Amino acid sequence: MQVYSAILIHPNISGGRCSGNLQIKPEGVIFNSEEINYNINFKNLSIYAGGAGNRFIFFKDKTTEDISVYTSDKSVLKDQLITSSPYLSQDLKQSKKNLNKLLISSLVVLSVIVLFIVGLFLVKDTLVKSLAKQVPVEWEQNVGEKLFSTMSAEYNFIKNDSLKNEFLTVGAPLFSQMENQGFKIDLYFVKDQTINAFALPGGKIIVHTGLIENAKSWEEVMGVLGHEMAHVSLRHHVRGIINNLGIYVILSAIVGDVSALAGSFINMGGSLATLSNSRAFEHEADEAAWNYLITAKINPNGLISFFEILKNENESGIDSTVTETFDLSFLSTHPDTQNRIDKLKQKQEKLNQKFNTLPENFNAFKEALLKID
Ligand SMILES: [Zn+2]
Repeated sequence: MQVYSAILIHPNISGGRCSGNLQIKPEGVIFNSEEINYNINFKNLSIYAGGAGNRFIFFKDKTTEDISVYTSDKSVLKDQLITSSPYLSQDLKQSKKNLNKLLISSLVVLSVIVLFIVGLFLVKDTLVKSLAKQVPVEWEQNVGEKLFSTMSAEYNFIKNDSLKNEFLTVGAPLFSQMENQGFKIDLYFVKDQTINAFALPGGKIIVHTGLIENAKSWEEVMGVLGHEMAHVSLRHHVRGIINNLGIYVILSAIVGDVSALAGSFINMGGSLATLSNSRAFEHEADEAAWNYLITAKINPNGLISFFEILKNENESGIDSTVTETFDLSFLSTHPDTQNRIDKLKQKQEKLNQKFNTLPENFNAFKEALLKID
């Protein structure tokens, strides 16, 4: 026989109540405890759901006012002796109705909460974007400067104005688009044979010699440049930081003011190195780069063919020149290269523009750059 744990409210007990066991027997409801035993005959029994939020099932003797037994175990309502008792059918109906009402209102509250949270995440990206716009570019530039100066110790920067100018001339139609949007891009070459390029917050773009060495054309290099520029112009660094702050801080910054975010920026110089571009940011940057290249009349197919080079390097697996030297790198671990190629190829199908022919000096540029110690 099923035993339910229950509480008896009785004026003769010290404290007015005690806990014990409840059993449903043919003669009625039986409550047992060390202190007291109490029975309610089915004929005098009334059952109802009650307590805060109808959490409990009460058993009461209709002939007394101040005595009742209650349990939180609702399965008691399914007890065969109770369901089959002719005296209780009305009570049972009412109790179940009350419990259903409770269930429905809980479900409604729960759905509202779930909808609110889902809604919040749907608009989160939009909120982050609009907040990022309010963050002055100068803040980013400051962080970029800090980061750059800590890098200077370990990076072998190449100082060669004539090679840099050759690069800037080819990329001029891209650089001018950045200037028009209010971003100042500074270009640096680093002697490092890993195939890599990355952008620092605020606009410094660092290109490894390994990237130039493995590229076959200006178009490929310009594709990568466009991608890094897009990380800057799309404010990916700031958006990444705000994203990491969580929805609560975002909401309070929106209803308050952005100065609350300032602290995060001041402290982030070091932590930024661990901040990586999300999959979504990479796709966004690829897409923006594609458009910048088209506007610049530079054939954007270079971006695809450079990704093919990366993919082959990754697949060869023997030569580990392709590594993650920096989390903000072009070669993010995600999304996978094939996925990025596939997305760009969808755009390639729609290409019908004419592009400028880029200078034929790419191999000479490469050779001269790689010669520098
Ligand atoms: Zn990237």
